[in-house]
Amino acid sequence: ENEKDTLNIVVVGHVDHGKSTVIGRLLHDTHSIPEGAIERVKRISKEKGKPFEYAYLLDAFEEEQKQGITIDTTQIQFQTAKRDYVIIDAPGHKEFLKNMISGAANAEAALLIVDANEGIQEQSKRHGYILSLLGIKKVYVLVNKMDLIGYSEEKFTEIEYEMNRFLNNLNVFPLKYIPISAFYGDNMIEKSKNMPWYSGKPVLEAIDDFEKGKGLENIDLRFPIQDVYKFDARRIIAGRIESGRLRVGDQILISPSNRVTRVKSIEAWVEKDRADTVEAGMSVGITVEDEFFNKRGEFISHLENPPLVSNFFEANLFWMGKQSLVENKKYKLKLATQEVECEIFAINKVIDATTLNTNEDAVAVKTNDVAEVILKTKDSVTFDPFHVNQHTGRFVLVDGYDVCGGGIVSGLVKALAADD
Ligand code: GDP
Repeated sequence: ENEKDTLNIVVVGHVDHGKSTVIGRLLHDTHSIPEGAIERVKRISKEKGKPFEYAYLLDAFEEEQKQGITIDTTQIQFQTAKRDYVIIDAPGHKEFLKNMISGAANAEAALLIVDANEGIQEQSKRHGYILSLLGIKKVYVLVNKMDLIGYSEEKFTEIEYEMNRFLNNLNVFPLKYIPISAFYGDNMIEKSKNMPWYSGKPVLEAIDDFEKGKGLENIDLRFPIQDVYKFDARRIIAGRIESGRLRVGDQILISPSNRVTRVKSIEAWVEKDRADTVEAGMSVGITVEDEFFNKRGEFISHLENPPLVSNFFEANLFWMGKQSLVENKKYKLKLATQEVECEIFAINKVIDATTLNTNEDAVAVKTNDVAEVILKTKDSVTFDPFHVNQHTGRFVLVDGYDVCGGGIVSGLVKALAADD
């Protein structure tokens, strides 16, 4: 295959440390911005009597994107000779979490931006913590605004040391630290003459060193059923293949009902024609040999390495609700195509994402807190631990009509599993 791959990178960091400027620079210097937008920003900057701001470029760019209906406004693209990049802009803590948990953004790698002058701040730590929970291991730390500290190697090394002390505790080991000045373009596209002591690559070259992980099509099959349609005499099972591959003739397991059958045909859905094999990312319709009363929410997998099925699971939960999360209140859990009533069976601990202090006696989880909890669902749910499959290992909680929390499944409840 000579098709270029795509890598999704999320850009995080404390507000004002330079996220937009870094992104604006990358877009500008890779010629990924329409001429009109650049001119507009130049004009606005001039009118305001201010120097050209790369950060405004991003705004202009996003504005332009918003006019298209189908494009997700948080996704920005550019390319190098090696591959295509999708940059996920996370304006704040909340948006970042929402994007990551809802699956709008499947970031494989991250750029964590730290202001060299201000050093590590609360949000830098929170974001580091989230990266660790999400298991994003491919992280570069960009130490920005080096111009403000006289391009000092000593200061840079200090920040590297301090950041590592925090992140390594969380099992995050940044692959590179790059000293930059996004505003002036130091070490962005070309090596900076202002920092001869830096022997590494500039950002645009360095990101090509991120190794792409196994594609979703190469992990175990997960096909959550979205709907079952009656069509002629056939029942067509429709949905999106979240991971793996499915072939005509495959023996399949349907969870949680635990029934086994074979794929009779793959009917086209989006693609129009019939196919013998379909894979992750495709929306398809299939027919099976034994037409059980399959329904929305069930998972189709192969017999080996099936998903987990239980009424209880452990999770890391990000709470965004206006009201605190409490035990024994009923919420709606949405996981892939499943929707079930659930409650928090136990709050194991609440974690302050900045200090990493934990409180094991908490009885409630406040807005923006992170907690390790045990969830109990009314009906059995089918899922995977997040580290096994990101698509079937995350969920959201809904209170009334509002999404009030999101989480990632850590696994079966250890104490219960031991009892079996
Ligand atoms: P964000 O909130 O993280 O997106 O930060 P912005 O990209 O909007 O940058 C915040 C401010 O810092 C803006 O006024 C930028 O011009 C400024 N800034 C960004 N990068 C640099 C830099 O490398 N050097 C200096 N001196 N200022 C910078």
